[in-house]
Amino acid sequence: MGTTATHCAYCALQCAMTLTADAGGRVTVEPRDFPTNRGGLCQKGWTAADLLASPHRLTTPLLRDDRSAPFREASWDEALTVVASSLREVQAEYGRDAVAVLGGGGLTNEKAYQLGKFARVALRTKNIDYNGRYCMSSAAAASNRAFGIDRGLPFPLPDLAEAGAVLIAGGNVAETMPPFVQHLAAVVDRGGSLIVADPRRTATVDRATLHLPVLPGTDLALALGLLHVAVSGGHADRAYIHDRTTGFDETWRAAAQWWPERVERVTGVSVAAQRAAVAQLAAGARGRGAVVLTARGAEQQSKGTDTVTALINLALALGLPGRPHSGFGCITGQGNGQGGREHGQKADQLPGYRRIDDPAARAHVAAVWGVEPADLPGPGPSAYELIESLGTDGGPRALLVHGTNLAVSSPRGARVLERLAALDLLVVADVVLSETAALADVVLPVTQFAEEDGTMTNLEGRVIRRRRAVAPPSGVRTELEVLTSLAGLLGCRAPFDADPETVFDELRRASAGGVADYGGISWDRVDAEGGVFWPCPSSSHPGTPRLFADGFPTADGRARFVAVEHRPPAEEVDAEHPVYLTTGRVLQQYQSGAQTRLVPALAAAAAEPHVEVHPDLAGRSGLADGDLVRVVSRRGDAVGRVRLTTAIRPDTVFMPFHWGGEQAVNRVTNPALDPVSRMPEFKVCAVRLERVVVV
Ligand code: SF4
Repeated sequence: MGTTATHCAYCALQCAMTLTADAGGRVTVEPRDFPTNRGGLCQKGWTAADLLASPHRLTTPLLRDDRSAPFREASWDEALTVVASSLREVQAEYGRDAVAVLGGGGLTNEKAYQLGKFARVALRTKNIDYNGRYCMSSAAAASNRAFGIDRGLPFPLPDLAEAGAVLIAGGNVAETMPPFVQHLAAVVDRGGSLIVADPRRTATVDRATLHLPVLPGTDLALALGLLHVAVSGGHADRAYIHDRTTGFDETWRAAAQWWPERVERVTGVSVAAQRAAVAQLAAGARGRGAVVLTARGAEQQSKGTDTVTALINLALALGLPGRPHSGFGCITGQGNGQGGREHGQKADQLPGYRRIDDPAARAHVAAVWGVEPADLPGPGPSAYELIESLGTDGGPRALLVHGTNLAVSSPRGARVLERLAALDLLVVADVVLSETAALADVVLPVTQFAEEDGTMTNLEGRVIRRRRAVAPPSGVRTELEVLTSLAGLLGCRAPFDADPETVFDELRRASAGGVADYGGISWDRVDAEGGVFWPCPSSSHPGTPRLFADGFPTADGRARFVAVEHRPPAEEVDAEHPVYLTTGRVLQQYQSGAQTRLVPALAAAAAEPHVEVHPDLAGRSGLADGDLVRVVSRRGDAVGRVRLTTAIRPDTVFMPFHWGGEQAVNRVTNPALDPVSRMPEFKVCAVRLERVVVV
């Protein structure tokens, strides 16, 4: 028997847990007290160990000689040799950029770092991006342009509980990360306000003091309207705006056009609700503090960056960022969504959150990697643009996938499958045979959370330790081992190491001096202190739990208001597709569901996708509760089971995105991209409903 203190396998809350392994290797989970989860776990956390010994587990590499043939088992030597020789052939014939890499926001910091280095140094391809592009990239882009830095929460999560008012735009933490709710409940229990903007009356809305039932795709108009009410109602903090910001006048001129009645017509949120929201936020700002938070509902739009920017403008006008128990933050979703975007697997970035087109950044990282700056490729396309280019003339011919199930998680799914089928080589490293792995030429079985050491950076920017509790099954390797072996087989002269602590020490040096500075963080410190917040530039630096108290990391030390304009969603309803679709998650499933669908307790609790339909819409559509319904857009269709509810607007349906095949709602969603973040518009498109007649 051995016990190991670690954190959950799944989301960015990274709840603390203790794993106990018995003599037979069976692992049980107990919650552990930590500032974020305070002893809580959700059902996904309680069952996180159930996949370790699952019969669905991959324990040997799989190969096939052509896509029509079944997989056969292979040795690691054969599989890695095939991968390396195939990559060399593809690059010899089509050039270095003919190989692409897609990573994931669930990879440890060490794996994310090593994957970026592998792409830029061993493959020397510009074509690498990751699935965080689909997660919080709009909030990251907006935070960077307003504050000069992107850290999901710029304060420890327990600060939230001390606020007097919280606005969540497009987030349903009661289902996605239930232990988060206790921090919100503390606000309400003290008489404070919780305001939630969402087209649905979600489990989070049930705990709120005010619901803003916004029409999908109009959150930006709502944010402009809230700013209008705040300023015209005398709630703007003029001293803060004068002393700590720039750009207010231009921003106000844009928001001044969004008077409450106009906002009500566009968003469906009543004038009274708009005024109440601002009054509650302003009361919080004058009292204990107020916080504005965004999540995927506001962010996963073709104008997600501007939507988040408008909400940051509201927070700045109320004088929140940098004040106690106040500010703006993004509720990051994936387990290492924060760290995953800091260490160089993003198309335009090098480790330390450095821009890849910055000569000084290239020189610093190249020196750590032992290569010439000129040898590093430049920026590549974003995840969906990269996928669209696969197998096209001049596009990548080979793809390596680590930690993402893009066949389920990417919009316009049929097109994604076409592009994957057009590749000469698809290699997938995963723990189970995901929908993407099932399409591959080579599948490499890799370790799960309880079988590996490393670090994660949670939604607060707190670097925490993932610890190995059990040995992986025979035949399974870590991704660090895989990448190190492949780099060697490819003849890469730069050093690669499979030991995660050694990789972290290199990551520290690569990030030192960057925005996300890990220079002073070591595993020993993380162990001793229970986590360290970046930036932490030296071993004597205490880390930075709270940002912006003394200024913003911009050229003039001020936060930037940025004027933005509302625009409609990329696709609006019409006679043929008269209903809006929005997508999201359910409590028992995580992301594409590749792992959680294989956990028996979770699969039993959420076995298939449902489609939330208002009874009025169901009546017009000839649908009854429990019917199978086909949700059809201009790009494809998906089938789910009707769940009648008055908790959704009558002009909108909701479907979760955790399933594949014909249950995959991302066959329906719209890949229209945000011009800044390159985020696809997952959260709104136009559909029609067709009852499925079962014969
Ligand atoms: Fe795991 Fe997230 Fe659930 Fe916590 S809330 S137990 S981190 S899935």
